[in-house]
Amino acid sequence: MDCCTPSNNLKTSKTTSCPSCGEKGKSVPLITLKSLLIASFLETIEPDNTYYFCPNPSCNTVYFSGTHSQTFEENALKVSVFQKNSGMGVPVCYCFNWTRERLFQAISDNQRPIEQIKKHVQSNRCGCEVNNPQGACCLGNVTTYIRSLN
Ligand SMILES: [Zn+2]
Repeated sequence: MDCCTPSNNLKTSKTTSCPSCGEKGKSVPLITLKSLLIASFLETIEPDNTYYFCPNPSCNTVYFSGTHSQTFEENALKVSVFQKNSGMGVPVCYCFNWTRERLFQAISDNQRPIEQIKKHVQSNRCGCEVNNPQGACCLGNVTTYIRSLN
């Protein structure tokens, strides 16, 4: 299964409002939390719940349960969260480790990082559901970030 196929992302995602900010969050596969939560937080998840990702940069909540009984902030994750952390060392593309800094450098050097990432995605090398906190393909974020540099 290709995690970056748009139809697949569409088919599997549901939305529910974030209990902290009210913005709509998309459901993420349980495997995303199992991969990315540090142990002491992982020990508290309720696998019968659906978990959602809040994309709002001004909200501290990263994941919340559909029942709104649980929220997790960035400190619960093993990795920095692109949407919540504006640091240059934070990955935009998690699978292939393209940080803001590396993308910035590549664009400055007239490289085409999107083409490189797309090539790997098309070869089915990406694993967004276990690497990227949003549990889905990074390409939209990469495109938006690169556009913001121009
Ligand atoms: Zn939120």
